[in-house]
Amino acid sequence: MRRADRHETLDLMPIEEFDVIHRYFSSISYYSDVANVLEVPIGDDAAVLNRQLFSHADLVVCADTLCEGTHFFPSMSPFLLGIKALTVNVSDIASMGATPFAFTLCLTLPSIDHKWLREFSEGLTFAAQKYGVSLIGGDTTRGPLAISIQILGQSQHGALRRSNAQVGDLIAVTGSLGDAAAGFRIAQACELSGSILEGNAYLLDRFQRPTARLGFAAFDGCHACIDISDGFLQDLEHICRASNLKAHIDPDLLPLSSELRAFSREQKQNPLHYGLIGGEDYELCFTFSPNAQPSLELQAAELGIALSVVGTLTDLNASEPDTFIALKGWTPESIQELKGKGFQHFAH
Ligand code: ADP
Ligand code: MG
Repeated sequence: MRRADRHETLDLMPIEEFDVIHRYFSSISYYSDVANVLEVPIGDDAAVLNRQLFSHADLVVCADTLCEGTHFFPSMSPFLLGIKALTVNVSDIASMGATPFAFTLCLTLPSIDHKWLREFSEGLTFAAQKYGVSLIGGDTTRGPLAISIQILGQSQHGALRRSNAQVGDLIAVTGSLGDAAAGFRIAQACELSGSILEGNAYLLDRFQRPTARLGFAAFDGCHACIDISDGFLQDLEHICRASNLKAHIDPDLLPLSSELRAFSREQKQNPLHYGLIGGEDYELCFTFSPNAQPSLELQAAELGIALSVVGTLTDLNASEPDTFIALKGWTPESIQELKGKGFQHFAH
């Protein structure tokens, strides 16, 4: 906590701060080995992790913040917010080929609202249980609503870096793409018209209640991976730029849900546009050598996660060193134009 916050917190909510931590955040613990890993839990000035942990695994760390008005609508339910705040962090750990085990929570609250806190804590607990992680510390301050989570993961197989994709790799994505962007559109329309949230429940769920695709950490044929938070084209381009390669994608192979197709028909929009540039799906995009395809497909099948091979990687074209993605049947100009449109996302 910064000094200024400390005075404000101590002046304005001394007992409440400890009460809030105790009531809502002191027992969210679902990492199965937590008793062996956590030397000092919530309650002291800092958590302490046992050194044994780091003798057999790399520590993988990332953080993500959600601010009201920037990353979520003020009307978003605290339960869903708790789920989403943790899920987006778990997804980053998953995309590094790692497994999360612990997280910290920095919560900035405009006031102490026990109903809000209870529901938020329930959402957080739901996601912590689903992903097997433990809350080990954090900070609680007063200010405009913001939720910042830092998450720790372990990797025993080496991290999946964006820069490690290889020529000849296949490119695959999990699940389906564009659903969350369509869900966002529905939520936005309800927000703007002041009406209650209704519409296609599947698409809304995909926006409000994303799932992180854990379970691929042990897959050893994979070269690079990214989670699709900003849109397939944009995120795939991160891999291509970092690895100095060009992706050749067949848009017909992009997995689009029947719900997205129906929604797009109603809206007189092209569902492929949602699939290509819609953000917040939190699906994974892998690149891997073709001979690893059977084992990746087996792994996905065992996890019950759909997997679609959508393209391949080659060297960059020397005459177009800045063209990182080719879409079959599309001109480079039409790709640029689509990317330029973006989804005017609240978040980006
Ligand atoms: P300090 O004043 O030393 O920063 P705090 O009063 O902020 O300590 O926190 C006391 C304990 O509660 C610490 O272990 C801290 O990690 C934990 N904590 C504070 N806020 C949260 C939170 N939102 N979620 C989980 N743990 C928290
Ligand atoms: Mg503190």
